[in-house]
Amino acid sequence: MERFHVTKAKDLRGKACELKFEGERIVTEFSSTDKVTVIDAGGSTLIPGLVDLHTHLREPGREDAETVLTGSLAAVAGGFTAISAMPNTAPVADTAGVVEQVFRLGQSHGLCDVFPIGAVTEGQAGTTLAEIAAMHASEARVRIFSDDGHCVADPLVMRRALEYVKNFDGVIAQHAQDPRLTNGAQMNEGLVSSVIGLKGWPAVAEESIIARDVLLAEHVNSRVHICHVSTAGSVEIIRWAKARGIRVTAEVTPHHLLLTDELARGFNPIYKVNPPLRTEKDVVALREGVADGTIDIIATDHAPHPAESKECEWSAASFGMTGLETALSVSYQALVATKTTSFEKLISLMSSNPAAIGKYEGHGSLKAGSYANFALVDLDAEWTVEPTAMRSKSKNTPFANYVLPVKVNQTYFKGNRVFSGGVK
Ligand SMILES: [Zn+2]
Repeated sequence: MERFHVTKAKDLRGKACELKFEGERIVTEFSSTDKVTVIDAGGSTLIPGLVDLHTHLREPGREDAETVLTGSLAAVAGGFTAISAMPNTAPVADTAGVVEQVFRLGQSHGLCDVFPIGAVTEGQAGTTLAEIAAMHASEARVRIFSDDGHCVADPLVMRRALEYVKNFDGVIAQHAQDPRLTNGAQMNEGLVSSVIGLKGWPAVAEESIIARDVLLAEHVNSRVHICHVSTAGSVEIIRWAKARGIRVTAEVTPHHLLLTDELARGFNPIYKVNPPLRTEKDVVALREGVADGTIDIIATDHAPHPAESKECEWSAASFGMTGLETALSVSYQALVATKTTSFEKLISLMSSNPAAIGKYEGHGSLKAGSYANFALVDLDAEWTVEPTAMRSKSKNTPFANYVLPVKVNQTYFKGNRVFSGGVK
């Protein structure tokens, strides 16, 4: 077994540290001193491999936008070693066969773990529960179920799904969007939408579903996870639910922590996203929600689209932004540079916390026994976002030409170097 010793690294608080691993696992001490290879971190900061609970990989069906391979390449370039593939593919990942296909593709590429999320309902149509038990029992061991892209709008279907996943301590991840209140909606409903004349998407369309679902989770004593929280009111409801002891967790995206609906004034559909960018007041509330623990994790909602889906008129454009390669930097800008949270806390929001929600064993930790999943990052470096340099097959990042902090130098997955962007 090969042994590696990472030296001259810094920990999350900036203190000198080192790391040892044998084969694919981290160890406290080597079992032998034979064949130890030194990895000189050159003063880089050592972080656990990041874990994303919300990634759109588009395979099967839309391989022109992204594949499991290109999405994995983007992930490791962003410091991620585990990503969770949303089921809104073609066909929908609503059977054991499709989730196993996605899982095996991830395994065969060997860049990072790809954990499929199963659909809640057949075809994500919202009416009949999908093969939840079969997906859980499959090789992919699915624990998180979501109709993401669509809301599980029927309260009875949501109740049944929450009850069903209790059998194996699974979780339903809700895309909270009342379909009736958002029919044809294009952007946040507010001052900007009324000035520029695009159909508004009211905050209450998100908040009313979250309020209903935390009450349903309480009623049946199950676990609900709220995807991409975007409004101040949503943060308040989740804070209330947690204080009441309801088993709810919540995520926020990097883009909702930094960007606002003011950007829609230029009608550039690169800023068109679901849920929509909100107001400055919402951004502040989301950051406060992260700071006080109401929001548990940062998730990318990486949503790749080919150029033709974005280079068109706003109302014809697809919703979504890429995010894997900018997530750490954008989140740092939004939370650490603003002194909202420490760097250490930011990393837990992007590694140990999502690993705990997904029960991704051995992920999100640098403790002995965990997988040797880690990245070496430079906290002092800045970089300019160039869409053409992205590993993702799609280039629809809203951060083109932004100068962002924190550069990922190297990423290791189960002891193998899977990304090298240059060492200091
Ligand atoms: Zn969604």
